[in-house]
Amino acid sequence: MYDVAIIGCGVIGAATAYELSRYDLKIAVLEKENDVADGTTKANSAIVHAGYDPEPGTAMARLNVLGNAMIEEIAKKLKVPYQKCGSLVLGFNEDDLHVIYRLYRQGMVNGVPGIRVLNARETLEMEPNLSKEIKGALYAPSGAIVSPWELCIAMADTAKRNGADFFLNSKVDRIERTGTAYRLFCGDQVVEAARVVNAAGLHSDDVHNLVAEKPEFRIIPSKGQYYLLDKSQGNLVSKVIFQCPSKVGKGVLVSPTVHGNLIVGPDAVGVENDDDVSTTQSGLDFVRETAVRSVPGINFRESIRNFAGVRAQSERSDFIIEESKSARGFINLAGIKSPGLTSAPAIALDCIKLLERTGVFLKEKEDFIDERRKVSFKSLSPEEKAALIEKNPLYGRVICRCETITEGEIVDAIHSPITPRTVDAVKKRCNAGMGRCQGGFCGPRVQEILARELGLPLEEVLLNKKGTYILTGETKKGGVQQ
Ligand SMILES: Cc1cc2nc3c(=O)[nH]c(=O)nc-3n(C[C@H](O)[C@H](O)[C@H](O)COP(=O)(O)OP(=O)(O)OC[C@H]3O[C@@H](n4cnc5c(N)ncnc54)[C@H](O)[C@@H]3O)c2cc1C
Repeated sequence: MYDVAIIGCGVIGAATAYELSRYDLKIAVLEKENDVADGTTKANSAIVHAGYDPEPGTAMARLNVLGNAMIEEIAKKLKVPYQKCGSLVLGFNEDDLHVIYRLYRQGMVNGVPGIRVLNARETLEMEPNLSKEIKGALYAPSGAIVSPWELCIAMADTAKRNGADFFLNSKVDRIERTGTAYRLFCGDQVVEAARVVNAAGLHSDDVHNLVAEKPEFRIIPSKGQYYLLDKSQGNLVSKVIFQCPSKVGKGVLVSPTVHGNLIVGPDAVGVENDDDVSTTQSGLDFVRETAVRSVPGINFRESIRNFAGVRAQSERSDFIIEESKSARGFINLAGIKSPGLTSAPAIALDCIKLLERTGVFLKEKEDFIDERRKVSFKSLSPEEKAALIEKNPLYGRVICRCETITEGEIVDAIHSPITPRTVDAVKKRCNAGMGRCQGGFCGPRVQEILARELGLPLEEVLLNKKGTYILTGETKKGGVQQ
């Protein structure tokens, strides 16, 4: 019997597992996909928001500011790509400047450090490639960028190294109550736990309804589409550039990424299907036309990928972090829209307080592992590179030419705690395939290395989700067919 089972391993489930694994508890994490960080966590703006946006007094306001500081610490300890680059909200007219002063006041109440309102000259001195039409901006030095999936993977890996059990390909499709505990069914597989944390993102309402007497919230999906541009555009701005927020969200932003690219988006469109991550010409046109208002010189011909992510909004205006009214010890972490990525570690702390209130005994482990080592070959000095190749020649073979990722790093990724079994899962861990050619060259090499390291037939190595076969069989069997 597990003390706590967490359903869903996006950034919220992973942060909860990481923070819980500090204690002497038996923890299970159940994830329906074949990898962690495969839902909303892998498709968002990747911004660690400063915290002036949420209305003062909300959980979002409190958890955003705390989460912002926690991510800086966690990223340092767990070697997650992170840059505290700061952010600007641009004003183009008098109405915008009113919004900017409102955000400034909110930020002060929420406890955002160092924010100030800049005039047009000060703003353009900071960011010369912005539109000359701007009238002023709100500057937040604690705004930052992070690799969202690497943050999730790092926390999940660390939880696993601290004893948490991970069950991938495990969709919870039925829940039974057994006196004071729960029995979670994933097809034929059964996991029993005294307490359950529902971190199922877009499906958190369905998961809650598996156990509750009546629905307590509803998830209303809203899609956001993006352009990811080549590194040639990555230095166009040095900070996260927002426009003034509207009722539907923080609007279209232009931002560098931690991997050196430029990200532009998102829009906000309601969707019928939670898993609809398609992009549309009209959505992308809207993103492009809105973004050039902030940064007129973006060259969209340098786009290397379009993608979409789906927000798990609920009908409530705040995050839902509470015990179910009809299921004792069943904690919902739901409706975690933006700034959910930023708030994740702080949400985990709130969740642990709720679990403690339901009787979970928290005894801190003495041997908690809170660091992670990771080789990034390209960031080493020539001497360090030579020494590493001397020890392990696999670091001397570059597999991904766009990103300079070596075979050594790919093998390290494959043997990391939560074993990646697909080409995209390797990409999420060490960036092979993230560059301009988007894996066109290195994809087959990564597939071969995965097959070799995991002892799998080549045809069984998938691109990403279940069923995404790359090879379906041999075409040449060594002889000419008569
Ligand atoms: C367009 C967009 C832009 C955003 N930008 C930002 C930003 O810049 N900064 C920020 O702070 N936040 C941002 N967010 C919000 C942030 O991405 C989310 O709050 C966060 O990723 C939510 O994480 P999660 O773990 O709740 O959900 P997910 O990452 O979706 O994880 C839920 C997991 O549950 C699994 N699951 C579902 N059902 C089951 C089941 N029955 N059994 C087992 N597993 C199940 C899923 O497979 C999934 O892996 C943005 C969101 C979007 C969509």
